[in-house]
Amino acid sequence: MRQTIRLGRVAGIRIGLNGGALVIVALLAALLAFGQLPELDPGRSAVAYITAGIAAAVLFLASILAHELAHAAVAKANGVEVEAITLWLLGGVAELKTEPRSPKAELAIAVVGPLSSGVLGGVFGVAAVGLSTAGAGDLTVGVATYLAMTNVALAVFNLVPAAPLDGGRVLRAAVWRWTGDRDRASIAAARAGRIFGFILIVAGVGLALLLQAGLGSLWWVLLGWFLVQAAAAEEERARLGRKLHGVRVADVMSPRPVTADPDTPVARFIDEVAFTNRHSTYPLVDAEGRLTGLVTLNRIRAVPIEQRSVRRLADIACQPDEVPVARPEEPVTDLLPRMAGCADGRAVVVDATGRVVGLVSPSDISRLMAVSDLRGSQPYPLLGADLNAAPTTSAGRRPS
Ligand SMILES: [Zn+2]
Repeated sequence: MRQTIRLGRVAGIRIGLNGGALVIVALLAALLAFGQLPELDPGRSAVAYITAGIAAAVLFLASILAHELAHAAVAKANGVEVEAITLWLLGGVAELKTEPRSPKAELAIAVVGPLSSGVLGGVFGVAAVGLSTAGAGDLTVGVATYLAMTNVALAVFNLVPAAPLDGGRVLRAAVWRWTGDRDRASIAAARAGRIFGFILIVAGVGLALLLQAGLGSLWWVLLGWFLVQAAAAEEERARLGRKLHGVRVADVMSPRPVTADPDTPVARFIDEVAFTNRHSTYPLVDAEGRLTGLVTLNRIRAVPIEQRSVRRLADIACQPDEVPVARPEEPVTDLLPRMAGCADGRAVVVDATGRVVGLVSPSDISRLMAVSDLRGSQPYPLLGADLNAAPTTSAGRRPS
């Protein structure tokens, strides 16, 4: 997800906000300042209500960040790299670079989010009681109570067993553990997500019609719609995963890509390399062959002609941390979700020493898909340890 406002890095994880997060802060602050808080503690100044509303909304957003950081910390402890944490319109998202390796890891990463929200809810609840007995004003106690309730609600809602909610991950871990089939578990959790999404949409529309509940019901519809979309995408990815089971990045990459020196002027690169090669993507490498950036023909085309002799490739390249990087032995299904962003859908493959050894482009992926379709129901040849997990096909059924 795009980060419009970057807050910084924590343990290598990009933390940021999407524009939608500001919308939700403004919306919550306004609902509190002009609705709930004046009802709770009448007779205060507008400034007091607005200040309290903004404080509550910002602290709620910080609570969501804490929930995501808890996911990220447990993911890291389980060997799963975390790319970014982004707060957006409907909440927060911790983007994992790879899938958890076991149902146990999946369960731990999922459960800790609602758990931390529950704990935060408890802390704010205790704070509300403490503030009240210490004689703090109704407004302050009201803000603490609001934060306690919203955090508990966040924990409960996210525990609904429907992907991509945390409860959906718990369901997936359970089905995975039970069947030993990760993709089947993903499909089950995604279906539950789609059903729950539809229920939310119907409930939201029902509320709007019966009770004329305005914003609240619209929110349910929005959440439901997002769940349906996200669950459908997850199901699609799981089906893809099933189709591409056992295929490694090395099987699909174009090996030994044409690389370029980052100090080459753009004009010289066009004359000497771009005109004579049919590639559209060129990794930039240092003297040791390690990735320092990536240029695409689209980026080169964007350089005005008069600047092409003064600007170097390094000036116009995607930075290494914006380029999806994969290892040859990695399952290709782990790479697919990362192939977006600056690099026009390309990924660079590096070996254990960090040297560039290959390139994966969208056409490599579509060729792979076409070939796997040709194979029909036959599984792709399985490599190494995957052999034992091979499902028996009708032609190769084991004698019972
Ligand atoms: Zn969560």
